[in-house]
Amino acid sequence: MTGGAIGVVQIAEGCLGSCRYCITRQARERLRSQPEDVISATVRMLVKQGAREVQLTAQDVASWGIDRGQCLRDLLSRLLDLPGSFRLRLGMMNPRTLLPIIDDLIPLLSHPKMYQFVHVPFQSGSDEILTAMDRRYTKE
Ligand code: SF4
Repeated sequence: MTGGAIGVVQIAEGCLGSCRYCITRQARERLRSQPEDVISATVRMLVKQGAREVQLTAQDVASWGIDRGQCLRDLLSRLLDLPGSFRLRLGMMNPRTLLPIIDDLIPLLSHPKMYQFVHVPFQSGSDEILTAMDRRYTKE
């Protein structure tokens, strides 16, 4: 979390992946999502302090809530209802966890409080390489 025009909120730590090349999984361990109430209060406070852009970050933003029986759409819907003049920017999302929620997420990206921006690391256009990496999606 930072002050100023841009606020950064870490919405989760860890991930659900097991990518063979990645040390993060060992360092940060399994997904632990921040509670919705905590994130909402943090965003509200940042906006009150003058933030015009709020960046939601995590090792994999798309996985937020899976460990809590929730999904990213629930969180975004709540944050987009907060008062104030601000926009949300989504951090990196793994294709594996993004794909199951993408149909819910795309309409939210048209919201005036959302940046129409996604950061999706496909890593490779080769199914053979994706399998070797244990990314668990295909180039398709
Ligand atoms: S999903 Fe991301 S952080 Fe997790 S193991 Fe794979 S590359 Fe690492």
